[in-house]
Amino acid sequence: MRKPIIAGNWKMNMISGEAKDLAEGIKNEVRELSGVDVVLCPPFTSLSPVSEAISGTSVYLGAQNMNAAASGAYTGEVSAMMLKDLYVNFVILGHSERRTIYGETDEMVNEKVKTALESKFKPIICVGETQEQREKGVTEKVVEEQTRGCYAGLSADQALETVIAYEPVWAIGTGLTASPEQAQEVHAFIRGIVADMFGQEVADAIRIQYGGSMKPANAKELLSQADIDGGLIGGAALEVSSFVDIIKAAV
Ligand code: PEP
Repeated sequence: MRKPIIAGNWKMNMISGEAKDLAEGIKNEVRELSGVDVVLCPPFTSLSPVSEAISGTSVYLGAQNMNAAASGAYTGEVSAMMLKDLYVNFVILGHSERRTIYGETDEMVNEKVKTALESKFKPIICVGETQEQREKGVTEKVVEEQTRGCYAGLSADQALETVIAYEPVWAIGTGLTASPEQAQEVHAFIRGIVADMFGQEVADAIRIQYGGSMKPANAKELLSQADIDGGLIGGAALEVSSFVDIIKAAV
């Protein structure tokens, strides 16, 4: 049985006091819950207050990005060691906004994944097709290329430390959601690629989250699909009640 994992991607929202309040609110609501991993991914500037707010609880801290290099002349970037220092456990890599706005390629994501694993983080690796790609019927081709590219050169043990987020780009922040059947179909396909790359045991154990306008109203149905093991939540993660309702739908 795979333990569900619900992660909140707060993107570039909230100043540190607001982030701390949100983290406190979520922490208080999930205190009694077990059987689900909860990850909060605030912007870099709020990692420290959120880290303090959730310290001593089962809620995990995640970052939204990380540089592949250990240190050096990378103005504006943040390294693995800097994140370690703030008790970060997870790091989102290859989010579609990083791919489309900042030109991140599968090769770049692959480098970051390797650094993250060497630093004992659990990378949440995002893949997903655009609207145009879905309409052209190349969803599987795109998702396969991304998965193989991002996981290139990893061992089975390393792959086991990762989480995959299937996020159809056309569903992110748009209010459009993949139907449970559409999402399940791609999740099963991704699991098949993982089986081909790393063996059935890894494929059976790896968690694949769905992301793309997941909210309390659609969470239960999406999360009840056989190959959907959690959610990566954007908009609905910015309010205690909606995020907590999604977490509750996962248990
Ligand atoms: C995301 O950005 O990862 C995401 C899924 O956003 P939203 O839930 O707002 O679609």
